[in-house]
Amino acid sequence: MHDIGRGCRCCSSDRFPLRHSCRACANPGSPKTTCRAGSIPRTSGKACGTRTSVVNIDRSQGIISMRTACLVYLILVGLYTLSMNDGWASEGWASPPVEIRGVWMDRNSIPKTEQGIRKLVRDYAGAGINIIFPEVVFNGYSAYPSSYLTEMNLWGGVQALDILIDEAHKQGIEVHPWVWVFRVGNANDKGGILTRHPEWAALGKDGKPISDGRGYWLCPSNPAVRHLLIRAITELAQKYAVDGIHLDYIRFDYEDPVPKCYDQGCRQKFEAEYGVDPQAIEPWTKSWLEWHMWREELINTFVRDVSKALRAIRPEIKISAAVVPDPQDSRLSVLQNWLHWAANGWVDFIAPMSYTSSTQDFESTVAKAAQQTGVLTFLAPGIGLLYLPKDPARMLEQVSASRRLPVAGVTLFASAYLDKQHLDALAAGPFRRRASLPFRSPETQAKKLLSHAQHLLSAADSPDQLDQASREVAYAKHIMDYLVYRRNLKEEVKPSPPNVFIPDVVIPIPEAKVPTISTPPTIDGSLEDEAWNAAAKVEIEYTALGREVTQPTCVMLACDADNLYIAFRCTEPRANAIRVSTHDHDGAVFQDDSVEVFLEINEKSYAHLAVNAGGATYDAKNYDVGWNPGWQAAVGLTAGAWVAEIAFPLVNLGRLPSAGTVLHANFCRNRVLVYQEAENMAWSPTYGSYHTPKRFGRLLFLGQRQMGPSMP
Ligand SMILES: [Zn+2]
Repeated sequence: MHDIGRGCRCCSSDRFPLRHSCRACANPGSPKTTCRAGSIPRTSGKACGTRTSVVNIDRSQGIISMRTACLVYLILVGLYTLSMNDGWASEGWASPPVEIRGVWMDRNSIPKTEQGIRKLVRDYAGAGINIIFPEVVFNGYSAYPSSYLTEMNLWGGVQALDILIDEAHKQGIEVHPWVWVFRVGNANDKGGILTRHPEWAALGKDGKPISDGRGYWLCPSNPAVRHLLIRAITELAQKYAVDGIHLDYIRFDYEDPVPKCYDQGCRQKFEAEYGVDPQAIEPWTKSWLEWHMWREELINTFVRDVSKALRAIRPEIKISAAVVPDPQDSRLSVLQNWLHWAANGWVDFIAPMSYTSSTQDFESTVAKAAQQTGVLTFLAPGIGLLYLPKDPARMLEQVSASRRLPVAGVTLFASAYLDKQHLDALAAGPFRRRASLPFRSPETQAKKLLSHAQHLLSAADSPDQLDQASREVAYAKHIMDYLVYRRNLKEEVKPSPPNVFIPDVVIPIPEAKVPTISTPPTIDGSLEDEAWNAAAKVEIEYTALGREVTQPTCVMLACDADNLYIAFRCTEPRANAIRVSTHDHDGAVFQDDSVEVFLEINEKSYAHLAVNAGGATYDAKNYDVGWNPGWQAAVGLTAGAWVAEIAFPLVNLGRLPSAGTVLHANFCRNRVLVYQEAENMAWSPTYGSYHTPKRFGRLLFLGQRQMGPSMP
């Protein structure tokens, strides 16, 4: 859509056509010039070195040749046409007039001199950036004088925030300070707040204030914590002419491996309301859901309170947050219900942190977030420059991907990775014309988009321009629908529970005793071997959500000194309906009729193996498909069932289970049904994703079989 990979027009380079060293110019004997593809008239088949040489004034004669004069005229006409073309770059890049183009400015990349700061902001303005998020509250410290937070002098006395605001406003850039909220310290430094008030820390279920090296967090139910944070944030908006406040770490720590917050305050408050001590709550029970919702609400109400406090003192201020991009995952993993904040209008835009090196993953992640967000708010997905190559091509691909989706722009993470190359690429491509921010007088922005779309339409000479006009009209409608939603929003919307299945009864973790066999089975897709007679046999009786299955599956287990042997007999009365669509190793075999095996490696990792009914295999360590241990699998058909047989070398688990050893494992089957959701079955129901090690069953290894007295 945006000419990615089309290559240079003036030489045969296949590099992304923004700026590159032209191959033709680099030939021996030619002056090496940086060629800006597209700035040269398209009809020229010559290399840029040749072209620039003809427009040079012949200084020895002091005259411009007629040929040169004609070329200058043509270039001027070209430039005029370009200026009338409303920023439609000759490379095919659109530059919409309304868009969020943000940069997270990490504190260490903010220069230490006034001159340096001003230059950086001017460079950003030159690249079309229109909003910056300078990191000025972090680890419970402020990077400016504060009555509530301990100031950390990062810039040798230079008041960076003052200078940033002054220069940004001169350049037409908005400043939304980036504020860490509940995360306030790390293993090396407890941070500015917890050093003074260690009793304010959120405690894990294990009673510790820090988990897995991930840092210290504040307890969000503590009134003193909430009071201090709101005072500190409103102070920032009162003392400085900031345009907004950008909330980060506005959530709990990751629930895995140790959930928070199990301090006395939270436990007592919850118990007073629900009659249960959170320490006694089992996962996937109704009490667990109540505890989950109760903790989510601590964050929800904080966002509401801070938003109200900020708008009370500065009605024009805009509030935003950096969030985990998948709304459901965000709730379950960090108790961050950001769709709910948007639904209540407590935030004005959201930056989902969709950092990935893969443009495809970026696009699918952002598409999902956008689809669920609808018109509730504006999204400016984060592009993780830290995961991308130094070459800006991939960044441009992700900008391009964002423009195929109903989102309001992008936010670049972060200034430490945003160098001149990136800025030049943005200035020459997608950000070549200045843009205004959609959340600032949205009616005006919708009108601006509509009139720009009309202009594009009247001048449209390419399908790309027509596409862009269509997108701008669609986004103008998005803005209007958003306005209608916000105007109709009278009462606080109540949060609904996350989409999890809470069973009436939690099935206990199953156990199987794995015998040791002396003759291994042949892995050929047939279960006729003698070895399987001696194997342990367990039935998969439940779906992953704990409902009864419709078709039985028998799993057989045995081992010897080298391998764990696993067989599945999958009863299937409709053999001709078995689906096999993937034949590639590590492909999406689970979308077919398939079986999956999960085997614990250690506390943090497990082997994930899968085989579809066609024999295609998949293996990964957790989600890492780069892990390819050697193992064998075969499939076969038998009367009324399909069969999978597996031999997995135990050395891949980093240990050889001895007698009495327990290995956590799960065995699952996916049965594809026509016109219905697949039936996903698990030996130990996981009540959610199969990737739930806490719900894996137990394999008890029996060790060497007792041999009878040897025959004479
Ligand atoms: Zn707490």
